[in-house]
Amino acid sequence: MTIAPQEPETRAAPAPAAHAPIHREDHDLAYLKHQLTALMNVLRRKGTITYSEVLQETQRLEGMTHDPGARVVARAWADPEFKGRLLRDGKAACAELGIEIAGYDELQVVENTDRVHHVVVCTSCSCNPVQLVGLNPDWYKGQAYRQRVVAEPRTVLQEFGLDLDENVEVRVVDTTSQRRCLVLPRRPEGSEGLSEAQLAALVTRDSMYGVDVPRGPVGG
Ligand code: FE
Repeated sequence: MTIAPQEPETRAAPAPAAHAPIHREDHDLAYLKHQLTALMNVLRRKGTITYSEVLQETQRLEGMTHDPGARVVARAWADPEFKGRLLRDGKAACAELGIEIAGYDELQVVENTDRVHHVVVCTSCSCNPVQLVGLNPDWYKGQAYRQRVVAEPRTVLQEFGLDLDENVEVRVVDTTSQRRCLVLPRRPEGSEGLSEAQLAALVTRDSMYGVDVPRGPVGG
């Protein structure tokens, strides 16, 4: 993400057309950049932050990956007792693995099974457990995803390549700034006997949002 230091012209976000496509690699985010730049300039004028501090934080966020989340998922697959603790208290369970989650009250972990499939959205902005899944993908921030996944989740999941059986119940979880949500995806078939590190390598970022599923090892 690039933050331009010049004064922006702010404007309201355009409403997406019905069935607006969800761009997996960005495009309707210009308004967010304008808003962010406006906020940053206000904070700079007030002396709250400096431009270099903003850049430093931006670089820190951009360096984050979904590896910690994959490690948590792999441990839950390998250790049913850990999974139980993770589902009851996500933050405490992550702390067991040395992953300290700060900045919000609750980490809600929802388990996907052969009967229920969860998919996460933040309908008001783009909250996610960044310490676990890394910086938000652009599609997660876009209005098309935020509005359409609530109204027509199966269609949206199909666009991501997930064609769920009609017997599977789809639950859309609306996350908030104080209650972030992580999807615990199903352990793929063919992954028996793998080490936790090998299991973690199967966990995709998007599977922890619920728009993808981990696949078993090739030949598994
Ligand atoms: Fe949000």
